[in-house]
Amino acid sequence: MYFYCEKCKKQYPLNTHSIRCSCGGLFRLHKDPDEIVPDGVSIGHMITPLVRAQAGNIEVLLKLENLQPTGSYKDRGAATLVSVAKSLGIEKIALDTAGYAGASIAAYAAAGDMKCRVYAPEGMPKGALQQLDAYGAETVLVPGTRMDACAEVKKHLGTDWYYASPAYNPLFIEGVKSLAHELYEQLGGVVPEYIFVPAGNGSLVIGLYLGFMEIGRLPRIVAVQSAGCAPLYRALREKLGLPLPPEPPQDPVNGQNYAIERPKRLNEMLFAIESSGGDVVTVTQSELQDAQKDLGHRGIYAELTACAGLAAAKKFFPHGKPDNYRVVIPVTGSGFKG
Ligand SMILES: [Zn+2]
Repeated sequence: MYFYCEKCKKQYPLNTHSIRCSCGGLFRLHKDPDEIVPDGVSIGHMITPLVRAQAGNIEVLLKLENLQPTGSYKDRGAATLVSVAKSLGIEKIALDTAGYAGASIAAYAAAGDMKCRVYAPEGMPKGALQQLDAYGAETVLVPGTRMDACAEVKKHLGTDWYYASPAYNPLFIEGVKSLAHELYEQLGGVVPEYIFVPAGNGSLVIGLYLGFMEIGRLPRIVAVQSAGCAPLYRALREKLGLPLPPEPPQDPVNGQNYAIERPKRLNEMLFAIESSGGDVVTVTQSELQDAQKDLGHRGIYAELTACAGLAAAKKFFPHGKPDNYRVVIPVTGSGFKG
C-alpha cells in the first residue's frame, strides 16, 4: 500500500509526515486487491445492528452506528488508521477535530498504546473533552473555529507527530469502507437501493462509494447537509445549472463553528454521488429535531447531526416509496455525546 497524489500521481509511503503532495494535491490510497490491511488495534470487533423502522411514510433500515465503542461510525476509520500506523512503528499521532473523530482516534490510540494529541476549538462541548481525557489524550484548545484548530495542528506536526486527520489521511476512509461490506452481508448479499448519510468532510460518502465499488454495485448515495452550511449541495446544483439558494446568515451560536464550509474532498464527494445516481439534500434544524424525536421514540438516542439521514429520507420520499426499495440510514453518532 502507498499514498499517491490525486493530481500528479506522485507516490508517498504510508508513514510520510507530509500532509499532502508537494503540488498541493490530496493523498489517495493505493492498495492491491489481495493486500491485507492491518487490523491489530481493536477495542473489540463490533457489528452494529440493522433494524427496521417506520419513519413518516416510509419504512427504513437503521444502521445503529451510535453503538460503536466510542459512540460513532468514525471508529471504523480510526480502527484502520491507527492499526496501520501502529504496524508502521508510529508512536505519536495528532489531529484536529471539533467532534467525533477526536474521540475515535484517541480511543484507538489508547488501545494501541500510542500517544495522541487532539487540537480542538475552544468551544468544544465539555462532554467531548471529558471523553478525550478518559482515553488519556492530550487536548490542546485553540481559540476560534475548527479551521483555526486545523491551522494550529499543522504547525506542530514536524517529524514527531503523524497526522491522523479523517479529512487528509486516506487510511481513515479505507476503514469506513467496512460499513458497505457489513451492510451487504446483513442484507443477505444485496446492495440497498438508497443510503442517506450526513456529509461533512466526506469520509462516509467516499468510504461507502469505495466499499460498494469493491462489491460491484452502488446504492444511490444521498448526502445530507445542514441548510445553514451546505457547500456540497451548492456545488452539485451549480454543476447541474440549477438555481442556488441564498447564502444563509452566519450563526456561530448554532454550531456554524463546527460545520465544514470548505470540504477538502468536495470533488471526490461529487463524483461518488453522481456516479451512484444519488443526490444532495439539505435539512433544517427543526427537521433534525423531529428526526431525533422519531429515533428517541424507538429507544434510540442519537446526536442531532446523526439524525440527518432520517430527516432527509422523510423529505426525499414525501409520499412514501416503492415497497421493494431498501433505504438504509446509518445513525452516525450517539446522543450521549456533548
Ligand atoms: Zn501532486
